[in-house]
Amino acid sequence: MLALQGDVREHLAALRAAGALPRPVRRPEELGGVAGLVIPGGESTTISKLATAFGLLEPLRARVAEGLPVYGSCAGMIMLADKILDPRSGQETVGGIDMIVRRNAFGRQNESFEAAVEMAGVAGGPVHGVFIRAPWVESVGAGAETLAAHDGHPVAVRQGNLLATAFHPELTGDHRVHGLFVAMVRAAGG
Ligand code: GLN
Repeated sequence: MLALQGDVREHLAALRAAGALPRPVRRPEELGGVAGLVIPGGESTTISKLATAFGLLEPLRARVAEGLPVYGSCAGMIMLADKILDPRSGQETVGGIDMIVRRNAFGRQNESFEAAVEMAGVAGGPVHGVFIRAPWVESVGAGAETLAAHDGHPVAVRQGNLLATAFHPELTGDHRVHGLFVAMVRAAGG
């Protein structure tokens, strides 16, 4: 669990409920021993700055290139995008998913909303999507697969061992998306 900023506690609880044994990662050394990583919702500019300051950005990119399973929600989705349409100056991403995201695309904080979202790979009916100043995916490249869309915009994307959602399943008590990610980690040998 990348624990620099954001809704870390909620993800830790969801991961435990999904059968994982999560621990916080703040330093490059702590990244070495994990079989998968979650990047939380929060503020992607802050997560980006802290990852750079803590010397984590390059090690993260290297582990993603090696195939480390990573799930990012909201700000975490932004961190996994190869390209941000409207980055703040100096805002870096880890990248890995061939997609372009638009930050705050669904509107400002007071335009946050909830919606039922059908998601491929998640059985048992739609997930309850909580969208908080959420990004949407402007375009998805050939290597990435859209798992869910809302209002015509992709909001859940997978590429290999990388999973990203524009919404926050960690805030809902429904652990199926975390369950999907834990299954991806196990399939990758974790
Ligand atoms: N808008 C935020 C960002 O750009 C993401 C919001 C969230 O994670 N809920 O990072």
